Amino acid sequence: GIVVENVTKSFGDTKVLRGVSLSVAEGEFVSLVGPSGCGKTTLMRIIAGLETVTSGEVSISARQVTALRAADRDVAMVFQNYALYPHLTVRQNMAVPLVMRRLTAAERLPFAGRVLPSARAKLAEIRADVTRAAELLAIDGLMDRKPAQLSGGQRQRVALGRAIVRKPSAFLMDEPLSNLDAALRVTTRTEIVALHRRVGASTVYVTHDQSEAMTMSDRIAVMMQGELLQVATPEEIYANPVDLRVARFIGSPA
Ligand code: ATP
Repeated sequence: GIVVENVTKSFGDTKVLRGVSLSVAEGEFVSLVGPSGCGKTTLMRIIAGLETVTSGEVSISARQVTALRAADRDVAMVFQNYALYPHLTVRQNMAVPLVMRRLTAAERLPFAGRVLPSARAKLAEIRADVTRAAELLAIDGLMDRKPAQLSGGQRQRVALGRAIVRKPSAFLMDEPLSNLDAALRVTTRTEIVALHRRVGASTVYVTHDQSEAMTMSDRIAVMMQGELLQVATPEEIYANPVDLRVARFIGSPA
């Protein structure tokens, strides 16, 4: 699971997070919603280790990670501008995180075109893991293409594939569908939910789309001005919003 305890974050004099606490259980899918500028991306970057906290703690899989760099946390991220490496194929893009984790520096640099024997077995394993993730996302037919030869939806699936191939225990998605057209959003949304069921990582999903949050999540966390106002199931939030701000934002009849 992911545990955020009383996290604050200031940029200079600006308090962006004002004591945020959130627990995402093992395998739970939590959507993070709130108006533009309320601090959603900042919270995600803090969980990922891309941003330091001003105060508070972050744990992933019961391990304190507050002081660890992003690379040392067991977290995968998919952000809206999914940056794939343009010069690498889909297969290579998906393999990068595994190559960086499993091969030593010497194994990563073939000498005069010769791969070290110790690297050969690892590379075969990486290839098998990448193929399995690609099959899950139905991109196994695109493995030799470069990102420029893919549609937006396909690129998005490659970014998801690159994230799940590491089998992370925490999965962070920041508006991963925002670049897709309406029809593709709906299909990809369904795919993400199915994928989450199969992969089972604790997930935080930032979206601007209330209907997306309502249909995809185990729970929804509503953030405003750097605070979480309510964290509850979609039904609870809709039926019993804690206050008028939440009711207005979610669109419940209160
Ligand atoms: P949106 O929905 O528009 O993406 P958000 O809820 O993700 O917004 P954040 O990106 O977390 O909001 O930003 C929260 C606040 O922190 C904003 O007022 C933003 O201007 C400010 N902020 C974010 N990053 C920095 C930074 N590096 N330096 C200064 N201020 C920042």
